[in-house]
Amino acid sequence: MNAELDELYQHVLLDHSKRPRNYGPLAEGSLHAEGYNPSCGDEVEVWVKLGPDGKIEAVNFTGQGCAISQASASLMTLKTRGRTPQEALALLGDFQDLVTGDREPEPKGLGDLFLFQGVRKFPQRVKCAMLAWRALESALQGRPGAAAS
Ligand code: ZN
Repeated sequence: MNAELDELYQHVLLDHSKRPRNYGPLAEGSLHAEGYNPSCGDEVEVWVKLGPDGKIEAVNFTGQGCAISQASASLMTLKTRGRTPQEALALLGDFQDLVTGDREPEPKGLGDLFLFQGVRKFPQRVKCAMLAWRALESALQGRPGAAAS
């Protein structure tokens, strides 16, 4: 990653961690799960509301922790709204491939999430980046108390 991209990466991450999107709980009756990353102290709670068509109508979060964990949660809410749960979980898989570097994911679809590619250089931060996605997965699968992977 060149210096310019590095700067962009930092700018967007800081922007999302300072001004998180879709921040705050959703009404009762929505799917809910929380996640905790003990290695860094990050916490997130995720709420998901499915629409009558089965797609994700709203997804919100609250949390505290490092910039990566909170920016990832913020971007997760933007990227999963309007998708079916299956599509959201497929995106989770692509994102995981991206941050772990295990497999090269298809660039299309990930969009801004590509900013997290730098995380693969810091394996201990993978859990930070994945925390909100794991909580989303737990909420969609009805496992509200699931801890971070
Ligand atoms: Zn963290």
